[in-house]
Amino acid sequence: MTNPVPTQPRRRGTCPGVLAPMQVGDGFLLRVRVPAGVLPAEHARRIAELGDRYGNGLIDLSHRGNLQLRGIPAEALEPVTDALSAMGYVSDDAASEAVRNVLCSPTAGLDSTALMDVRGVARTLDARLAADTALHRLPPKFGWLVCGGGIGHLAGSSTDVRFDAVDTERFRVSLGGTLAKAAPLGLCRAEDVADVASALGRAFLDLRAELPEPPRRMAGLVAAIGIEPFATRLSPLISPPPPSGGGSGWGQVPHLMDVFGSAEPPHPNLLPRGEKGFRIGEAPAFLTTAFPFGRLTSATLSALAAACVEFRITPWRALILVDPSTDAEHIAHAHGAILSHTDRRLKLTACSGAGGCDVGTTDTHATALAIANRAGPLLDHVRMVHVSGCAKGCAHPAIADVTLTARDGEYDVALNAKPGDAASHMQGHTGLSPADAVARVADLLTEESAGA
Ligand code: SF4
Repeated sequence: MTNPVPTQPRRRGTCPGVLAPMQVGDGFLLRVRVPAGVLPAEHARRIAELGDRYGNGLIDLSHRGNLQLRGIPAEALEPVTDALSAMGYVSDDAASEAVRNVLCSPTAGLDSTALMDVRGVARTLDARLAADTALHRLPPKFGWLVCGGGIGHLAGSSTDVRFDAVDTERFRVSLGGTLAKAAPLGLCRAEDVADVASALGRAFLDLRAELPEPPRRMAGLVAAIGIEPFATRLSPLISPPPPSGGGSGWGQVPHLMDVFGSAEPPHPNLLPRGEKGFRIGEAPAFLTTAFPFGRLTSATLSALAAACVEFRITPWRALILVDPSTDAEHIAHAHGAILSHTDRRLKLTACSGAGGCDVGTTDTHATALAIANRAGPLLDHVRMVHVSGCAKGCAHPAIADVTLTARDGEYDVALNAKPGDAASHMQGHTGLSPADAVARVADLLTEESAGA
């Protein structure tokens, strides 16, 4: 398979793939979409080899549950693509690859408290999206989610179309958002998910085209036209919500918040109780490992691959090791993995910065880790410290407790702000060298904890 080297910058808002490599600061970035997030250890080992041999040895875990190989030179695109294709991770063309944005409960099949093992449904949906060329016109970031409940539920993940299991055979279909916020459409059978998705994708494309400014995401379209036009089109495949005396309209269906225990997502980086290998019922044991900024090396991936039979890639930028060996935790620790909920590095968010993005002018990862070292226990008082390489805020465009925004090698520092807000929100906290910014953050956190 030949991977044409892109000669034009990618269109704004597009997403990278294997067949649509993105040129960034450290070479080409290839996003590998892994169906259902299930990656056999042998495949992981081979992917690590590719990163080591052809790339710069850095591998990112994305918020969409994918692996990203970094630092691939143009001349290596073809052999890397061929190797990934041989493992089954490359679609026929870039268009069919781009629409395969399906999140799957990462503990599917590992957790007997889940309502349904949704791996098969997620794989079927992945394949339908690739095969159904009418859906290839969907916007690049349009996403889907299949959740079976249990400890790896995806209640807090926001996407365009949700399929949340309500029992062993049926899904609640809802549009645009988290479990709590998405607009419920009705119930469908597990075997109809691909057909429902196909019909919903077409409905989205048709209905948005009728608007003068077509929304690019489902939430925007539902806000503009409501749920009824979708319900009308989907009526043969979807049952309406059962009658209920309660306000939810889902009275005879187990209330999903109860089913999933909480509308809150699992810990942003680690699954509850997942820091130790454990077994639920007859399901295999697993071990959850996270990495600062969702980044690991080929050497780490290879070492972990030797210590388990399979990985699950979570949307929380963590890896689940299935059937870990007795020394898996030791190996993960030796490679700098995060194994505890109390690890303060979980509080840090940073984009690639100068090391991996043309726009970046500072080493965002080094700055963030310096803050963790300097601030220590003070980080316990905040949920997130975000170091952004510029005002775009790729890693976290929203508000964080502490946000550092880089400009020309210096930082603006702000509390409760988004990237780029810093200069307008705070006086005397702009234009700081990285070392001064780290010190200023430590001072701010000290003041915050003293006032708490
Ligand atoms: S936030 Fe700016 S520096 Fe960071 S990855 Fe995005 S564009 Fe690059």
